[in-house]
Amino acid sequence: MIAIYTRQSVDKKDSLSIESQVDFCKREIFDQEYKVYTDKGYSGGNTNRPAFETMLSDIKAGLIEKVIVYKLDRISRSILDFARIIETFKKHNVDFQSSTEKFDTSTPIGNAMLNITMVFAQLERETIQKRVKDNYYQRGKKGFYIGGRAPFGYIKVETKVEGLKTYTFDIDKQRVEYLMKIYDLYANTDMSLGQISNYLNENNVAAAEGGAWDSSKISRILRNPVYVKADGDIYLYYKNRGCIISNALEEFIGIYGCYLYGKRESNQRKYTNVKDHALSIALHEGLIDSKTFLFCQYKLDKNKQIKNVGKGKYSFLSGKVKCGYCNYSMSVYTSGEYKYFKCRGKTSYKNCEGHKRPIHVYEVEDVVEGLLFEKMNEIKNAKLKVSNIEDKEKNKINLQIIEIDEQIENLINQMAHSNEIVEDYINKKILNLDEQKKKFIDELKKVTLEVNKNEPIEKIIEYIEDWDNSSIEEKKKAAGYFINKVLVKDDEVVVDWKL
Ligand SMILES: [Zn+2]
Repeated sequence: MIAIYTRQSVDKKDSLSIESQVDFCKREIFDQEYKVYTDKGYSGGNTNRPAFETMLSDIKAGLIEKVIVYKLDRISRSILDFARIIETFKKHNVDFQSSTEKFDTSTPIGNAMLNITMVFAQLERETIQKRVKDNYYQRGKKGFYIGGRAPFGYIKVETKVEGLKTYTFDIDKQRVEYLMKIYDLYANTDMSLGQISNYLNENNVAAAEGGAWDSSKISRILRNPVYVKADGDIYLYYKNRGCIISNALEEFIGIYGCYLYGKRESNQRKYTNVKDHALSIALHEGLIDSKTFLFCQYKLDKNKQIKNVGKGKYSFLSGKVKCGYCNYSMSVYTSGEYKYFKCRGKTSYKNCEGHKRPIHVYEVEDVVEGLLFEKMNEIKNAKLKVSNIEDKEKNKINLQIIEIDEQIENLINQMAHSNEIVEDYINKKILNLDEQKKKFIDELKKVTLEVNKNEPIEKIIEYIEDWDNSSIEEKKKAAGYFINKVLVKDDEVVVDWKL
């Protein structure tokens, strides 16, 4: 089907009447079927045009082979918008034609014109991007104080950078112990954000912004990299979350804190989504080591998830057990005094047939327990220092992520000098690399989160050796140390080990 798109602004000065626009377009159609999409009273700058949106969804549904307009500016007055829209057309194999400007992408010359338009659009896009970025991040790059009151635990002091007056932070000797306490309690105990804020209120500690403490104030402090002694791990953590990092990796030497700043949606809490934020090394010294800081970040992330899925404390293997047939997570169900694992693949898109018999929790636990004991003896005999393995493992993953980043950056640079076909190829490669990177990041998370620094291997061994007296939480920690996942079939339990 052919789509005729017409638009007329409120003031009407900008174009022909809708009827005439349709007439012009119809001249380009012979006996094909067509549909007219009309936005009356909408400007070309306004991207929320209802008829235009309908047309786009028809395009995405594959109903349209060509779009005809009376003039190019009916699509958009902005060359950037225009280029974006044409790209969408192209993606869905939709030709585009302007009836008065003789611009038809189904002809070679029309296509060439389109490419020229795109090049200019790209150029404009890059220029704008650069300008915006330069202005926006310039201040932060020099470690300048970026406004507002001093964060809790610090006081504001005047200083000079390259002859310019600015501010930095000194430690607030009266409050810093509470700042350390907040991180300590969150990282090393099971206290919730609410319990930590109660603790501070009971001790009559004043919050930086005044008033009583609450969970969100605590969370903001835990999320604020102003406190961290920023090192390479911090660099990676923010880079992987889409932050723009103003300093080179070499400048993350594990001493100074960071400023995190960027555009903030008014309905969004700061730091929950740091994509497109900028991070730069500040002039003041951080207080919290990066290991503790990152552990807190992962814990905050995870608690957010747990709130959505329930605690699942029924088995020390909760969250690790997967269906051996479809690989989907198996959850614990209770029936009377029995607990069993059930594949949820049946109700999901996977449509798994599931198991032919009930899988009792105790039988899976039994098998895994036995294997855990074996594994532990192996490790004790080999006298391996697991914490070293952990560090090595983390380092290996980190290096792999850096390597992928470099590859992506190389590809992006190549893109500037390539033609369309190569570009397509490069795009696919980048997507691929990005997938790989995501997997590494997940792995990294797992390694960091589950091997809490307060659960050294000696503790884990203790839990396993005194298995029957260990709590579910302790058993869970032990399982988390060693096990990636447990695959369960009707007649088989396979453990996927981390080490
Ligand atoms: Zn299944």
